[in-house]
Amino acid sequence: MQSTYLIEDTLVVQGGDSYIVYSPFSGKIARVFSFPEKGTEIFLSLHESGFFNALPESTRKDDIETWRGFRSLTLLVTRSCNLACIYCYAAAKKSGRTMSLNLALQSLKWFAEQFKGNTIRISFHGGGEPTLEFALIQEVVKEAYYLAQKSSKKTRFQIVTNGTASIGIFDWFIDNNFGISISADGPAFIQNRNRPFVNGKGSSEIVEKNIRYLVSRNYPFTIRLTFSSIDDIREIVRYFGNLGVKSLHVEPLFPHGREYKRVIFGKESEKEVYSPDGKEFVTSFFKAMGVAREFGIRITNSHIGHLTKGLGYFCGSASGRSMIVTDEGFISGCLEVVDDQDSDFELLKKIHLWLMKLPLLDFKIGTVAFCFPVKIVLQDMCVLVAAR
Ligand code: SF4
Repeated sequence: MQSTYLIEDTLVVQGGDSYIVYSPFSGKIARVFSFPEKGTEIFLSLHESGFFNALPESTRKDDIETWRGFRSLTLLVTRSCNLACIYCYAAAKKSGRTMSLNLALQSLKWFAEQFKGNTIRISFHGGGEPTLEFALIQEVVKEAYYLAQKSSKKTRFQIVTNGTASIGIFDWFIDNNFGISISADGPAFIQNRNRPFVNGKGSSEIVEKNIRYLVSRNYPFTIRLTFSSIDDIREIVRYFGNLGVKSLHVEPLFPHGREYKRVIFGKESEKEVYSPDGKEFVTSFFKAMGVAREFGIRITNSHIGHLTKGLGYFCGSASGRSMIVTDEGFISGCLEVVDDQDSDFELLKKIHLWLMKLPLLDFKIGTVAFCFPVKIVLQDMCVLVAAR
């Protein structure tokens, strides 16, 4: 017997002798004790409360007419990294290019001038390891405080890091109320295999030490975990649970590597790790949820957002609301498009135009002007990952 039903925009899931009624688009959830057949009293009552609306024609929040500017700024501050992860999407190098302080500050100025909201949100992200440019981050934060104070706005900062920075740097992030996301893959034998230092040494010891430190400070943070099917996800979640982690974001290993197409991941390849297929990943995710529940860990994945928030795009970058600036001054529509050397860059632009038929927009940052797509809105997948 079917136990899950879709009525208009609302899911009705049978559980024992009751039904969970859930509308991701209105963000409403309820439990009822009889099936909400159309026209019945219970159906009408739920409808009045916001359930059973027509499915939206589009899940996009903005289009070219209603777009009200960027809502957050992400700076991809450097292409340098002290790690050499086997699956690095950015092919980061030990000594790569770095954003100039002038470009960072000009980007912030441009962003703040067009920003209409109440909270200036700034994120520092990869293409490399952002904490290697700690002095630049500090300057940007100082300027953001100044601009926010001038315009009576608030600030919110976010760092996505490989977790190898010093305790002093983490203390500063805590003092400035940063949202912290640490990319880490699990117990030492997994972390050291997937995410070694550039000299080949394991990174597990220092990353674990920093995780323990954040836990000891009772500071909320998220672990961003890349999962390969050769590993037991229950063991990984248990490991983080025992460290005291309370928030896990799990993504499958995407099948591209540091050297892009030259590295093939897969069961038949010379690489040990490989990307789970959809079914493998869903099965593993359910197992992970079970262990996470035991430890009181909140666990999520990009696709979950489709169910819980009614999103029509793979990730926040694709919302068209995030202004992502590369170290060279490009405004990118995607966190993984970190320069125009990526062989998929041209393809990405073409796919975007073909799908969305939106014009490209011109933006100017200081003296640098670039033409770039700002929106990549696809159902159920990331165009870049798909292209690769
Ligand atoms: S994935 Fe991140 S931490 Fe790993 S090498 Fe690439 S930039 Fe560095």
